Amino acid sequence: MRAAKSTHPQNLKSSAYAFVFVEKFDRAKLREQLTPLQYQVCVNKGTERPYTGEYWDNHEPGVYVCVVCGRELFASKTKFDSGTGWPSFWAPAQEGSVGNKEDRSLFMRRTEVECANCGSHLGHVFDDGPEPTRLRYCINSASLKFRPGAP
Ligand code: FE
Repeated sequence: MRAAKSTHPQNLKSSAYAFVFVEKFDRAKLREQLTPLQYQVCVNKGTERPYTGEYWDNHEPGVYVCVVCGRELFASKTKFDSGTGWPSFWAPAQEGSVGNKEDRSLFMRRTEVECANCGSHLGHVFDDGPEPTRLRYCINSASLKFRPGAP
């Protein structure tokens, strides 16, 4: 039997599931619940301009939850200064907090990150992050809500 362990570990795992955002959320309700920018990012998969979001420079301890559904997505202990102007993390709060999806828009091949609970668009994940994962979750502040507290 051959060992199951790959000699070329792939850091960017694709999730088997794909969410259809509109199945869980009423767009009209979301328009009321979210700011126009939050709606543009979470529902239309937009990107906030760098260095303009609420959290790229936030260094407080706490957790970042999904602005749509409240699921815990990222913790301050995995946040790092990426120099990109977007909140950046080297891991999600828990394995399974976020889902990955291939994104071929804008003539690029990127991995989209979405809330595993509701499918809200969060940002993208790249494999040029720091140790220990070498992942860089590049996340829009507009997709997050910060809850200060023990990390
Ligand atoms: Fe969510």
